[in-house]
Order: sequence, then C-alpha cells, then structure tokens
Amino acid sequence: MTSLSQFAEVLDYDEALERFDPVLGLEVHVELNTATKMFCGCRTEFGAEPNTQVCPVCLGLPGALPVLNQTGLESAIRIGLALNCSIAEWCRFARKNYFYPDMPKNFQTSQYDEPIAFNGYLDVELEDGETFRVEIERAHMEEDTGKSLHVGGATGRIQGAEYSLVDYNRAGIPLIEIVTKPITGAGSRAPEVAKAYVSALRELLRALKVSDVKMEQGSMRCDVNASLRPRSEKPQDQDAVKFGTRTETKNVNSLRSVERSVKYEISRQAAVLVDGGSILQETRHWHEDTGITTSGRPKSDADDYRYFPEPDLVPIAPSAEWVEELRGTLPEPPAERRRRLQGEWGFSDKEMRDLYNAGAVELVEATVAAGASSAAARKWWTGELARLANQQEKPLAEMPVTPAQIAQLQSLVDAGKLTDTLARQALEGVLAGEGDPEQVVQARGLVVVSDDGALGEAVDRAIEANPGIADKIRAGKVQAAGALIGAVMKEMRGKADAARVRELVIERLAPAEDA
Ligand code: ADP
Ligand code: MG
Ligand code: ZN
Repeated sequence: MTSLSQFAEVLDYDEALERFDPVLGLEVHVELNTATKMFCGCRTEFGAEPNTQVCPVCLGLPGALPVLNQTGLESAIRIGLALNCSIAEWCRFARKNYFYPDMPKNFQTSQYDEPIAFNGYLDVELEDGETFRVEIERAHMEEDTGKSLHVGGATGRIQGAEYSLVDYNRAGIPLIEIVTKPITGAGSRAPEVAKAYVSALRELLRALKVSDVKMEQGSMRCDVNASLRPRSEKPQDQDAVKFGTRTETKNVNSLRSVERSVKYEISRQAAVLVDGGSILQETRHWHEDTGITTSGRPKSDADDYRYFPEPDLVPIAPSAEWVEELRGTLPEPPAERRRRLQGEWGFSDKEMRDLYNAGAVELVEATVAAGASSAAARKWWTGELARLANQQEKPLAEMPVTPAQIAQLQSLVDAGKLTDTLARQALEGVLAGEGDPEQVVQARGLVVVSDDGALGEAVDRAIEANPGIADKIRAGKVQAAGALIGAVMKEMRGKADAARVRELVIERLAPAEDA
C-alpha cells in the first residue's frame, strides 16, 4: 500500500471528485512595499548587493532593539479592513523559535494567537461570473528571513553544493500572512476557487498599493493546503463529515500553479485513499516542469515553535479613530470598480470577464487613460499581447511595453500612419527594447504606402493575377474586393494603405459605385 503512495499514483480527477470532497486552506505571504524594514531603518530595495541593507537589529546582534514600522502596521490594518476582518484592539508580536541559517536571530518575529486582523472574508469571482465567498481566519504581521545561496553544485540547491552564502538583506522585510479558514463547498471547482482567490487577493492588494504582489519575484507567495474527505450520500450532510488529513504544498508561485497543484493533490490523495492508504501530514514541493508535488518534511499541528510574546516590542493598540481613519483610505472594492469600468467602457459581461481572467483590467485602464479607446485597448491586450505573453509564458503585466506605448501605437493606427500589420511590427520593436512606437517606426522605416503610383501598380498586378475575382467585382459584387486588397497587402508586406487600395480597386473595376 505504501508503495503506491510513494510512487505518486494519481486517480482520474473526475473519479476522485465523485468519491471525495476536497477541503482547501490557503496561506499567502505578501511582502509590503515599505521603504524600510519592519523593525529597523534598513532599506528594502530589491536586488541590492548582498548584506548591504543590514544593521544590528535585522542581524540579530545582542542588545539591538526593534521598533515597529508605522507604515507596516498601517498597511496591515488596511489589508485587514479590506478583507472585512475585525481589527484587534490590542495585540502583540510573538517569537517563533526555530533554527535556520538565514534567520539571524534564531527566531522570527511574528504574531501567534493575537493577530492584528481576524475573521474576515473575500468574495471571489469565478470564471463564469459566479461569486464564491472565501472566509479569512486571520492576517498577521511578521518579518521575512534572509536568503541562502548554495554555491558550487549543478542545481543551486543545497545538495551537492560546496558551500553556502547567506544574504541578510531580506531579513526583516515586512510580511503579512493571510490565512483562510478551511474552504469547503467548492467541490470539483476547488482548483479554480483557489486560483480565483489568489487572483482576487492580488488585485485587492494591488489596489491598496501596499505591495507590488509579484508572484514570480516572491513578493507574493502561496502555500496550498488540501485534504479530501469522503463524499456523503446526501450533499446537505457533507458539512458534518470530518476533514481528512491535509498536505501543505509550499511556495506555489503563479496563479496557474495554484490551480494545477490543487488539482494534482486531489488526484494524488484520492489514489492513496482509494488504495486504503492514509495521507501523511507533511509539506510538499510543487514542481512546475512536471506538474507534480513531492514529499517535503512531516509537519504535525503540534510542531513546537515555543512561541512566546515578544518582550522587546510594545503591544499594539490601534485606537478606534485611527482604524476608522484608515478605513476611509480604502480603495473602491475591485469588483465594484470593475463593474463601473465595464459600464464606462461599454464591454459585455463576457468581454469584461475575459479581461479580468487575462489580468488585463489595469492595463486597459491605463491604456485608456493614456488616450486610447476602450475597444482598441482591449483589442491590443487580449489579442496580440495576450498571444505573445502566452507564447513566452509570461504574465501579461510583465510584457516589456507600457500602456502609454500601446496608446501611442493605436494613435498611429488611427492617424492612418500604420496598418495593423505595421503596428504589429512596431510593437515587436517596442518589445525588443527599440524604444517608443514612434522611434521604432522611424528606425525600422515602417511607413504606410499610400502613394497612388506604387499602389496602382500593385492593384493592376492583383487584378491580372485574379481575373475571376475581378470579373465578380465588375459584375457588381463589390464585397469581393477584399480578396484583391488582401493580395495587394500581401505583396506590399502589409504596408499598403488599405482604404486607398479599396478605392483604387473600385475605381478600376466598378467605377459606377463611386457615383
Ligand atoms: P500551519 O501552521 O500548518 O501553516 P495554518 O493555520 O497557518 O497552519 O494554516 C493552515 C491552513 O490550512 C489554513 O488555511 C486552514 O484553514 C487550512 N486547513 C486546516 N485544516 C485543513 C484540512 N484538514 N484540510 C484542508 N485545509 C485545512
Ligand atoms: Mg501557516
Ligand atoms: Zn536593519
């Protein structure tokens, strides 16, 4: 029996769902974008030389005393409020004691049973537009650890490395950990709910401007807990069935991986259970390339971190007035904002949903703000750019082009200076780092040919090459002109002014149309 679980046999997903009911729990860590660390004045910029952003406090030197970053606390409270949580009137930090080489104090300053925010919820929108409520257990403040760099091995992992270096720049960066209550009732949509939750949370945090929430760079990290319980005979009795043992898949760092890892764990756990085995409570690692999880370390609920209240920091007691003041700074809730934008932009429900699922709402908003029409902005971001992003397996927002550049590109199209084909070439240049669209157009010589001489010759050649089509147009089927325009476009590598080509075709073959 155990052999099966070791070899990660999986059960067909649909069959797994027929027999079991999945329960999820998501733990999301967000790095705040404060200028300085949580308990000292060290800078937080990403990518600095190792160990240049450190001081006695974040290095844990004896006698150094931490002081709480006010902006960090403010962000924590605003996140709590935005997640419909209660805010603690009084709470403390706690020391979570464990040894890890990149954790200089040998404990992490965190919060334990007194989180700053608790008991909230986040309504998330699923792909078909339905809303699912995810309940939030707590959001608490803590600090990040440093980073180890393993040198000399082939993989960059500790196994096989000759030695390890530690960079403490990240030690003490403010983190907020947001933990859901067990998510039940999602059924076969559990993977989708998990992804939609992380996506909605990211959107909310971005709107709050408290973090840059880049999953790929680790400023937002997700641990996915999942378990299965037997399906009850009557759906209404499902809530009474005891939860199964959970696994915790660590650091699942893209929306797509969140969805895939849940789906995989459901299939894997189902296979173990069907075979009569039992699930080991453990951490697991997600492998993006193979799409599977593998065993990490056993983790019991009784893991003893010897938590105790942090004696070097004063308790936090935000006044009700201050909390209300912070509530006043909350942004328009993202879902409402999307509905408002949908109205302003004149998009259908489906168009708006596609935009949201593609992560393109902000991009379109910024493109419209830079002067493009909503229709054109949507077309670029969900068309050509989505295609390229998908090809390069990159999130849309990471494409090296700004909304302002897209707006400029579109204005060149609107002014008749670029055809669609030329515009795509100009975009290619922008993405290749050749500058703004206008610079690319200049440098690459991307100009529309609207000169009648050159166009007329190409039109004549197209007519000659397509006598059948020409006859149709002569007979009054003007719609057939499209084929000739296409032929001219092809010959001129997309540089021809299509409107002028149409006129020239009609002039030659159906002049009566002009009258
Ligand atoms: P840990 O210290 O192990 O990380 P947390 O309480 O921080 O524990 O997070 C555990 C997460 O798993 C929470 O989101 C919780 O709701 C969820 N959870 C708890 N029990 C189960 C279960 N049996 N199946 C799935 N998720 C669970
Ligand atoms: Mg946890
Ligand atoms: Zn410091």
